Amino acid sequence: MTKLNIVLFGPPGAGKGTQSQFLQEKFELIHLSTGDLLRAEIKAESPLGNEAKELMDRGDLVADSIVVAMIRNKIEAHLDAKGFIFDGFPRTKAQAEALDEMLDGKDEPIVAMLSLEVPEGELVSRLLHRGSEGSRTDDKDEAIIRNRIKEYSQKTAPLKDYYSAQGKFKAVEGVGTRAEITARLVKALG
Ligand code: AMP
Repeated sequence: MTKLNIVLFGPPGAGKGTQSQFLQEKFELIHLSTGDLLRAEIKAESPLGNEAKELMDRGDLVADSIVVAMIRNKIEAHLDAKGFIFDGFPRTKAQAEALDEMLDGKDEPIVAMLSLEVPEGELVSRLLHRGSEGSRTDDKDEAIIRNRIKEYSQKTAPLKDYYSAQGKFKAVEGVGTRAEITARLVKALG
């Protein structure tokens, strides 16, 4: 059976985490968020978490080798999964290439890269709102938020071309109600 391996793509604050939850339930997928995995390492005060914390607090990307190894471990731990939803990964071309290598090697390639499109002003206000309600320190400071968006624009957004070249890129409007956006994502999956 073909596995439903999906990259849920978009800038910080686009709604990847929220939408992942719904897609995960609907299609019985394993949700892999490198941000969540890194925050768990920080909470556990592991050496990896301690190394990542400083970068995450600044809104800079963590090293490719770290996130690739985390994803590799998770894929190997769930060999019988119906598919994976990758959230916040890949974020660089090197990560995308490593992911392709892992999945193509198993003949279970990414089937679609769904890109949530949200204007920058809306992203900043969503993240500041999330920061005022939650515990993420990187959501509380507008300068850090802008740096995360800059990292996205410079290093991550070019992956749209990477997946376009494979015929997998699908842009989805990320503004609207939660249910409207979920419906658009499901439709884009075809
Ligand atoms: P997120 O929860 O996806 O917004 O990620 C929070 C932070 O974790 C980012 O600002 C990065 O510092 C780090 N991070 C998460 N995923 C990655 C990744 N794939 N590559 C590099 N850094 C990441």
